[in-house]
Amino acid sequence: MTAKIIDGKAAAAELRQKLAERIAARGDKPYLAVVLVGDDPASLIYDRNKQKAALSMGMGCDIYHLPEQTTQAELLELVGKLNEDEKVNGLMVQMPLPAHIDPSAVIESIRPEKDVDGFGPYNAGLLHENDPRAMVAATPKGILYLLQKELPSLAGKHAVIIGRSKIVGRPLSSLLLNCDCTVTVAHSKTQNLPELTRQADILVAACGRPRMVKKDWVKEGATVIDVGINRIDGKLCGDVDFDEVKERAGLITPVPGGVGPMTVAMLLDNTYSAYLKQIDKLK
Ligand code: NDP
Repeated sequence: MTAKIIDGKAAAAELRQKLAERIAARGDKPYLAVVLVGDDPASLIYDRNKQKAALSMGMGCDIYHLPEQTTQAELLELVGKLNEDEKVNGLMVQMPLPAHIDPSAVIESIRPEKDVDGFGPYNAGLLHENDPRAMVAATPKGILYLLQKELPSLAGKHAVIIGRSKIVGRPLSSLLLNCDCTVTVAHSKTQNLPELTRQADILVAACGRPRMVKKDWVKEGATVIDVGINRIDGKLCGDVDFDEVKERAGLITPVPGGVGPMTVAMLLDNTYSAYLKQIDKLK
């Protein structure tokens, strides 16, 4: 069996096109503020990509680029100003932050209605409670979008997620539970991991370990979602050994071109939703 490849690039392009059409038809101008501290090259690339995508869809977007030595108080002051600024519908602070800044303090300072990353405790709590008002973190939201596009139903499926981070594993476990999956979350202390993953109808690898998931970890016909972004000798690869696993899976996302492009599209989708809710409140 050779798996069908899930084309995240095409799905993301389609979603962005639909959003751009809605924005143009209504004459909307949603605005995303991206705050970046320091000169981490990967973060710079991510943020420029977000800005390029936002502008191409008719949104406004600026990168507030602060020097590495910015203090926590200075960063919180900028977040406070952007919270107050009515022009700003979505506000995100790029992670990782320099070591002298507490990321939780910064994330918690973003107003929940502008928290388009969905990392703050308010939105995480709403998601945990299956409350539809939750702003859902972009990567898990993108994964769910791909799964719902490809699978007729998620109810009753056993999903095994490798990774329990705040930005991927945990929110994804809530999302899939809310879709009536049976969810197992694995992490670095999990024992007999391949035994668990072989039970998965849906296997999500989000552990940051290059090509860790092998063919014999996967049930025949399973759906395999690879979130990992790793580099080996300068070449991008995921947490799944794609060449092996595609011979056993039913559906699989590639790296690059799978989950990654969906993350940017969903961040902009969240920004547009935040904008609509905010103008609704002003009416
Ligand atoms: P984190 O480092 O925050 O979390 C990794 C998780 O994997 C932890 O829960 C850790 O367990 C678990 N883990 C690590 N090693 C193992 C192992 N050997 N067996 C089982 N579990 C293990 O990573 P992120 O969640 O931020 O990111 C995960 C991957 O996804 C990275 O490659 C990252 O680059 C990528 N990523 C991709 C995105 C995209 O848009 N495509 C967006 C975000 C991330 P423990 O909790 O016990 O430490």
